[in-house]
Formats: sequence, C-alpha cells, structure tokens
Amino acid sequence: MKAAQKLREWFDSHQSQVRDDIVRLTMEMVRQRTVNVTPDKLIEHPYLAIRGEEWRVAAIVSRELEAWGIPFTRHERQQGRPNLLGRMGRNENGKRLLVAAHMDVVPAGDPSEWKKIKNPFEPEVQQGMLYGRGVLDNKGPLASALVAVKMLREAIGSEALAGQLQIAALSDEEATGEDGVDYGVGYLLEEGLIDATCAIVPDIGEFMRSIDIAEKGGGVMRVTARGVQAHGSTPERGVNAIHKMANLLQRFEAFPFVYEPHPLLGHPTINVGLIHGGAAPNIVAGSCSILVDLRLVPGQTMESVQGQMLEITRQVASDFEVEIVDSRAPHAMSPSHPLIDAIQRNAEPVLGFRPEPVGLGGATFAKWLNLAGIPSVGWGPGDDNAFHVADEYVSIEELVQFSLLIGLVALDLLGDD
Ligand SMILES: [Zn+2]
Repeated sequence: MKAAQKLREWFDSHQSQVRDDIVRLTMEMVRQRTVNVTPDKLIEHPYLAIRGEEWRVAAIVSRELEAWGIPFTRHERQQGRPNLLGRMGRNENGKRLLVAAHMDVVPAGDPSEWKKIKNPFEPEVQQGMLYGRGVLDNKGPLASALVAVKMLREAIGSEALAGQLQIAALSDEEATGEDGVDYGVGYLLEEGLIDATCAIVPDIGEFMRSIDIAEKGGGVMRVTARGVQAHGSTPERGVNAIHKMANLLQRFEAFPFVYEPHPLLGHPTINVGLIHGGAAPNIVAGSCSILVDLRLVPGQTMESVQGQMLEITRQVASDFEVEIVDSRAPHAMSPSHPLIDAIQRNAEPVLGFRPEPVGLGGATFAKWLNLAGIPSVGWGPGDDNAFHVADEYVSIEELVQFSLLIGLVALDLLGDD
C-alpha cells in the first residue's frame, strides 16, 4: 500500500486521538505566558524574568518529542530562549522539509477586551473553536506540526521518509530589541544551523487558502529638516523646520517610485507614520523629522529610494537628511517550486479547495529563510484577522486538517514510493 494511503487510513481511524492531542498540547502551551516584548516594556510584565521565556513551551515540546522517540537538537543564543529542531526520516535523498512555528506570543492587551474567555492564558474550547492568546499565533499550528510527526511515526514508521521532515519550535518572532539581536530564526541562520531545502511557515492565516510565496521588502526611513531657532515673537530671525517639512510632505504624497509592478506584490507603498518637530510654541522650530514606512517590490532597494528621496528634498531645501533606519529586501520564490505544487495537490481533496499563491506586504519568518536561499512559503490555518487581537481563536477542525496535510505534503515531497 502506498504510504499516503496508509496515512489516510490511520488518520481516519484515529481522528479523535489526533484532535485530542492537538487540543491538549495547544492548551498546555497557551497556559505558559511566553510573552515577547521589547526590553523597555518588560517592566509591564512582572511575571517575566526575561522576555519571551520560551523555555516554558520548549519543555513541553521536548517532553513530547522524547516520548515519541523523535530526535531533536536544542540551540540557544541566550539561556531561557531555546530553539528546538526535531528531525524524522532517513535523510538520504537531499530533500529536507522544515515546518517552522514560533513559541513566543504578543501580550494579551487589555483583559477587559476579551469577551469569550476571562483569562487569555486560560484557553477554552467553545463550539469547536479554541480561544486564548497564542492558540493561532502560533501554538496551535505548532501543536499540529508536532502531532503530524507522531502521526507519521505511528502510521508508517519514522524511517519511511527517504528525505527528512524537520519541525522547528522557535523563539523570538514577535519582538525585536533596539540592538536588533535575534534569538530565533535569525540566530539559527547566522550560525548555519538550518539545512532544510524548503520550508512551510504556518503564520499567515487566510484559512489555508493562500500560499504566501512573495513578500515586499522595505523598511523605515527617517527624514530630518534643519532650521534655525529664534524667539517665537521674531520668526523672521530664524528658519522654521516645521514649515520646511510641510513643503516636503506634499511631494511625498504621490511619491514617484521607479519600479516594475510585480504580478503578486503589485506596487510599492509609502506611509508617513510619525512626525516630530519643534520644542515649544514660543520657539521657532529648529528641527523636524518624520519616519516613513516603505513597502518595496523586487527590483527596488532602500538605497535607491533613499537617493530618490534626497533628490526630492533638494527641490525644497539643500540641507534635509535622509537616513535608512531599518531595511529588509523583498523576496519572491518561483511559482513552479515543487513545494507549492505538493501543497495544492494534497490540500484540494482534504479541504475542498485549492490554495493559491499570493504576495504579502508584511514579513514572516519565510522572508529570512528565502533570503538565506531556502525556498519557503507562508501557509497555515486560521483567520488572519485573529492575530494579535482580543479573543484570538482558531478552529480545531482546521488544526486537525493542517496536521494531516503536513504529513501528506511531507510524504509527497520526501517519500520514495
Ligand atoms: Zn506569529
């Protein structure tokens, strides 16, 4: 019998066990408050000794992998913020599929906004849905991935895969400190600890309907206007930086980007998100600066936009400063990569629809993997409007389907029959 058929049959006769395993694991992980905030916000979370504290979830993940006899390695840049990498299969054919989920969560926000449950860290099942902080982002999908490994082991045996299925439970996805140090996927990539040949990052929602194969690049630019301070009663003695900035801002409204529209990502965008200028009403403003969010398509760079911005500022005044504060490159993987095909082929009979490739304006782990040369897609269960909000929820049925699909896609890509 073909391995995929064996897996389907095993799944059909063990569905309630799969479901119970996923619900139990998700709930146990959600009870661990692995809240990841920037260091300056740590004081608002007195139950945290360090931010993230992903070790609390890692303890659950490693306990399960040990119980199931799945080998894994542990890598941590800082004690208490580990990354676990479980591996299954013979690893003989050079094909290695990574499913990467993260163990940290965003804060619960104002508890009074949660209407479905009282305590965001005391998850509940209601009418087939799981509610709680992290049930979707990203502990539920992590539980699905773990149970997929267990399912494969019990249905066809851990040595049945000719390639290798890797499950990563990662730290540090939800926040970055000012120093930019990354304790999760960035750390693993820097240290050369990821040897996957392709990856699925279940962190975009859209109910498994969309496969994120391209993400815009971009970043943040700071533009500063310089003036000359003077007493507010004699503005003619100074140069008002706020007025200078106002003249410039009009020109940014329809920014003349130079680019080729991308079939999935479309057009670049610009958003002036923050402005700061002046010291007091009775002082002529000596400086004024804006922070500009840019989302760029392949072919554009922050450096090229910086050059263009500088040119535009010169039309207003000769002394504007334009600096890149933060920068990431766009990426787009080939729509004909076998991973996309494997997802579509296996998902259609299980879900009743065919997931389609899309491009995103935001960035997931998939960006860093792609930029490191590992073709990676964002694809997974859940409502994209349920991320980072009160009453975060996920459908248990979807988590169960996703678990089966990881097994089927792994067999398709990594199996040998
Ligand atoms: Zn996430």
